[in-house]
Amino acid sequence: ERQKLARLRRLKAVTASGEPVELQANLELPAELPLIAQSGAAGIGLLRTEFLFINAETLPDEAAQFAVYREIVESMSGDPTTIRVLDWGGEKQSDALTQAGFLAGMGDLNPALGLRGLRLLLRAPELFEAQLAAILRASAHGPVRILLPMVTLVAEVQAAREILERVARRLRRRRVKLPSTLPPLGVMIETPAAALNADALALEADFLAIGTNDLAMYTLAVDRGAAEVADLYNSVHPAVLKLVARVASAALRLRRPVSLCGEIGGDPRLTPLLLGLGLRSLSTNASSVPLVKQAIRSAEIESCVRFARQVLDQTDPARVSALIAAFHARGV
Ligand code: PEP
Ligand code: MG
Repeated sequence: ERQKLARLRRLKAVTASGEPVELQANLELPAELPLIAQSGAAGIGLLRTEFLFINAETLPDEAAQFAVYREIVESMSGDPTTIRVLDWGGEKQSDALTQAGFLAGMGDLNPALGLRGLRLLLRAPELFEAQLAAILRASAHGPVRILLPMVTLVAEVQAAREILERVARRLRRRRVKLPSTLPPLGVMIETPAAALNADALALEADFLAIGTNDLAMYTLAVDRGAAEVADLYNSVHPAVLKLVARVASAALRLRRPVSLCGEIGGDPRLTPLLLGLGLRSLSTNASSVPLVKQAIRSAEIESCVRFARQVLDQTDPARVSALIAAFHARGV
């Protein structure tokens, strides 16, 4: 089995019917880097930068962040690194940020619905600018993409792009060498508002990344961390899948790359469904990459599309589970 997985590392992520799929890894802690290198992932589709802040006693400045991003970018030896700017708030909390006076969502009744993600960064420009400067400097050392979390408005993306351009101008004035074109700027689609307005966001963004973990939470009104309602939390609830399908087709229509980086991307039993919904780029835990690649390599797109249509016709999540089980029992 081990050998089979090792062999998979060198094989391409292409379906049995010939469609190439981009298969990347999510990174939450730098300790996962060796695992990513071994996994056969084609780059990092989601670098969560919260680790730099969560256990820190003091906020990492531009130089400290640059050192970390640069090391990660260089270790990917030419494969892209998608760096998500700080997604603080909701279930992601940090002492250093609280002590520095950034009280993301803390006093709110519903922190998940409060000041978090990009909203917080736009209100804390010094924090945002230092991180963007560090990312831009790292982009001189390998391909980088920048991802914005918790977006609900086109105006937020426009504001972020203006800040990014301003930071780049400032760095160039400081004679810092940057690549001639700035890194692509992408938007996480993880709120129902973003999914429903995916076409407007796609026009402002260079790429989209669907975050089904939060998209399921906000669509179903079920906290992703709440034990009492854990049985209601379901990223393949038909309502969530309808949003995912909508985002995939908006991206296709507007010719913007779209990936999915929520946990469901790492479940090989769901790979045919995600391919059938139109996705051709997945980012998962490094440990899931070989199994998902195997699932991609045995997928026939036409049967995936038929299967996804059938699933999208459902309204009951129990029926979705039954259809998934039946699909695999058929051995397709
Ligand atoms: C998501 O919400 O699906 C996602 C990928 O981001 P995170 O899990 O870090 O919130
Ligand atoms: Mg999220």
